[in-house]
Amino acid sequence: MTTELRLVEVHGTVQGVGFRPFAHRLATSLGLSGWVRNEDGHVVSLVAGTPSALAEYTARLDTDAPPLAVVTSVRSRPAPPVEAPGPGFAVLASTVAATGQPREIPPDAATCPDCLRELFDPDDRRYRYPFLNCTACGPRATIIDELPYDRRRTAMRAFPLCPACAGEYEDPANRRFHAEPVACPVCGPHLEWDDGDVAGEGALAAAEEALRGGRIVAVKGLGGYQLVCDATDEQTVRRLRLRKHRPAKPFAVMVPDLAAARRLADVNQAEAALLTSTARPIVLLTTRAGALAPAVHPGTDRVGLFLPYTPLHHLLMRDLDRALVVTSGNRSDEPIAIDDAEARRTLGDVADGFLTHNRPIRARYDDSVTHAPLGTPAVLRRARGYAPAPLRLPRATPEPVVAVGAQLKHTFALAIGDRAVLGPHTGDLQDATTLDAFEESFERLARLQAVEPAWVAHDLHPDYLSTAFAARWPRNRRIAVQHHHAHVASCAAEHGVTGPFIGVAYDGLGLGGDGTLWGGEILLADLTGYRRLGRFARAPLPGGEAAVRRPARMALGHLYGLERLGEPIEDTFSQRLDPREVRTVARMIERGFNSPTASSAGRLFDAVSALLGLRDDATYEGEAAVALEQAAGSLAAEALPWRLTRVEKLWVYDPAPTLAAVLRRTAEGESAGPVAAAFHTTLAEVTGALVAEAVQETGTDIVCLSGGCFQNRRLLTEVHDHLTRQGLRVLANTAVPANDGGISYGQAAVAAARLSARKET
Ligand SMILES: [Zn+2]
Ligand SMILES: [Zn+2]
Repeated sequence: MTTELRLVEVHGTVQGVGFRPFAHRLATSLGLSGWVRNEDGHVVSLVAGTPSALAEYTARLDTDAPPLAVVTSVRSRPAPPVEAPGPGFAVLASTVAATGQPREIPPDAATCPDCLRELFDPDDRRYRYPFLNCTACGPRATIIDELPYDRRRTAMRAFPLCPACAGEYEDPANRRFHAEPVACPVCGPHLEWDDGDVAGEGALAAAEEALRGGRIVAVKGLGGYQLVCDATDEQTVRRLRLRKHRPAKPFAVMVPDLAAARRLADVNQAEAALLTSTARPIVLLTTRAGALAPAVHPGTDRVGLFLPYTPLHHLLMRDLDRALVVTSGNRSDEPIAIDDAEARRTLGDVADGFLTHNRPIRARYDDSVTHAPLGTPAVLRRARGYAPAPLRLPRATPEPVVAVGAQLKHTFALAIGDRAVLGPHTGDLQDATTLDAFEESFERLARLQAVEPAWVAHDLHPDYLSTAFAARWPRNRRIAVQHHHAHVASCAAEHGVTGPFIGVAYDGLGLGGDGTLWGGEILLADLTGYRRLGRFARAPLPGGEAAVRRPARMALGHLYGLERLGEPIEDTFSQRLDPREVRTVARMIERGFNSPTASSAGRLFDAVSALLGLRDDATYEGEAAVALEQAAGSLAAEALPWRLTRVEKLWVYDPAPTLAAVLRRTAEGESAGPVAAAFHTTLAEVTGALVAEAVQETGTDIVCLSGGCFQNRRLLTEVHDHLTRQGLRVLANTAVPANDGGISYGQAAVAAARLSARKET
């Protein structure tokens, strides 16, 4: 019988997912000898055996891989006989070697079915143990100190294994073989209530009693503290809003299981898949009226639901058997608290009690947020469960780049080779606290990846804290990427589009290439550059930022100061506002005082929301637009009048006829719903017309939709369907957010494409 010797490399997400134990079991079952080990970002094994057994081994490394593994390639080549292994099959220590690829940092994974069974099995030694995990589940990115991923380089090194756990860890036949965070009640972390006076099961019982009694509990989770309370108790939820300074933005709600989610909301197939995925993100769903306390979701029936993803969540759900508000442990838009002392300080007067534990959190990972607008999953906030798994870049970068993102919903990305590693969502980058969180997160990820970015990609806006951060790199190492180019490039890049495409970028505000504010843009773009082909008409933002927080002002801005392309709009709106405010705003616009103009789609949504009497003020980004989408529902509608004009070689959408019709129908006493629906349909038609002009001019038929406005499901669906009917190939963001959370990936894709093009010439 001939024996061959082969070296087999497996690439993809293969570390921290139980791949080595799996390879061990597979090799042993096939009678192969040799070894397996982690090498930098991948898994390598040297195997000796018959050709047929080796072939089967190589094939099954891919087909039978553990559930959390994502195998991108298996490469097998003959090994020189000098490397022939001894008998048996060994799992060797990890080695680190330099490669041009990012190193694998596995995301955290939800408790697996096997561990869940043990959690509720009274005969199991881990019965009701809140920190149980295995090679298929548990904390990863949030506990790692250094790579390669081994227990002694994680937050678990403070917990020496007991003999029973050590036995499992070392037994290749055990499902906890080399499960780095493995723990049990004897050797692992434990729960504490308040100042640590009650521990373990008593701590859990105390927290549950507090929650039953309508109190708010800060719970130390996987990637940060969470604020938890009864989602069916109106008074408690209102108290949480007051204390957290969050008047209206909907809270996320955790429910015990998929069946419970279906009782609260309509859940389609894609949404169910998201809810039960190992990433366990928050999924935005349309809830039934009266299912939750009204204060959970004022003014919208779209609520983020999610299922328990740690053993602790499972215990709370099982014992309390009710929907719980589970929201980030922060005040308003600050970063989520991860440090115990910091949590006491920032959440001390928000929470009535603290359920904590003694396993440190190494990195801040908020809960991810998703939805499924076109019947396919799309990420709106990319953090726990997804980050920092790398995303592909269509053009590889010759040198590492950090893309520092924008301002709101901030993320950053490290471009290494043909991959971009996105850091988790930081929050709105607008004060020292969020800036610190970003810096911390960047330094950590760069250290884990062992890269010092030679280049920085940043937004054009000089006032963004991210742009100021980029100034740490020498001027000739900075790559400025226009905001809306980054948006549409993020969409193109995730779909592997490298040639020219039409970009439709609809968002709130971003600085344009001409120094004015943009936000309703039609671009001819590729990954290296863009040319503006069309835009929305400009309207002033009276008071600048103040207009963003007050849609009623944006409405006045459109009525009094819209770029004059046709007849003026008759003002039948302002009489319901305070005349002093109206006079002030009118004067500001007249004199051009503190009233920058913007060609923004997002601000037009704000204006229409106010004109329809839905929202005069916004307490969170996009609130007025959310109200408009909610009012429109799925009502069928005919488009309102609109007009395209040609201004300085650009096609410009003039919304004056649209706004006049909104006011006329409102004055005639029509309710907001049908008009809101008609407005959405109008924008789909307008986009169709703008894109048709762009296609005719350029001959390009791929369209990439991006920008925060495309979080609006109705807008996205209508625009998508409209353009598809025009015979175009229409792409939208799925793996990265359409909002500013996707900007860093777009910047990374643009920077990589520009650097690789430079290298070629
Ligand atoms: Zn497990
Ligand atoms: Zn143990």
